[in-house]
Parts: sequence; C-alpha cells; structure tokens
Amino acid sequence: MKLGDVLRSGDWKSEKHVPVIEAPDTVAAGQPVDIKISIGEEIPHPNTAEHHIRWIKLLFQPNEGFTFELADVQFAAHGEGLKGPAEGPCYTEPSAAVTVRLKESGTLLALSYCNIHGLWESSKAITVE
Ligand code: FE
Repeated sequence: MKLGDVLRSGDWKSEKHVPVIEAPDTVAAGQPVDIKISIGEEIPHPNTAEHHIRWIKLLFQPNEGFTFELADVQFAAHGEGLKGPAEGPCYTEPSAAVTVRLKESGTLLALSYCNIHGLWESSKAITVE
C-alpha cells in the first residue's frame, strides 16, 4: 500500500470532497497571484463536529524536480460549544485564499482531508510566462 493508493479524486461538480483550485491558467513570473482553495463549491460538504473538512494543503509540482508545499490551512471550528457539539457560536468553512509567486511552470496540487471520508486530491496546471 502506498499513499497514492488511498488518495481519492473525482469531478468537483459531482463529488463534494474534491478540492477546488481557482487560479489563472497563465501568470507572470515572480508576480503575486491569488489562488483560492475550497471544498464543496457546487455540492456543500457537511460542517459539523461529527463530520467536517479538517484541512487542505496546497502544493506545487514544477515541471522538473521535487514537490513543494505552498500552504497548509486548518479548519478548526465545527460548531462545538459548551451546550453541545452543535450548539457553539462559530464554524470555519473549508475555503481559503493564498497568494503565491511562481518562477516556473508546473502543476498546483490540492490535498484535502475529511474526518470521515479520508484524503482527496485535485490538480491544475499553471503556466508561468
Ligand atoms: Fe465527508
């Protein structure tokens, strides 16, 4: 068994666990670019103490060489509170914006973790000019 064997993927329009990467197809070398990573853009994922998205990682695979981690976003609040697991005052929704600068073309990779349904991946090619 390898890590790749347990990573699930799918079309984010029909599978609520797949991370969505919103980024330009082409960016200017070395210039800041905003990337949004989220879960459940078309099909909301539950956000309860019992069932929620716990984190999303954003990675960068240059066309040559090893993989880099760009961001690690933890979603820590899921409705827990003094009166009960769904009686709390706040929730973190599984969505974040990250600003990066790239000097080489490659692929953005997103990895998300649901506390019940495990690990999910998606990717998006990005060209640096
Ligand atoms: Fe789930």
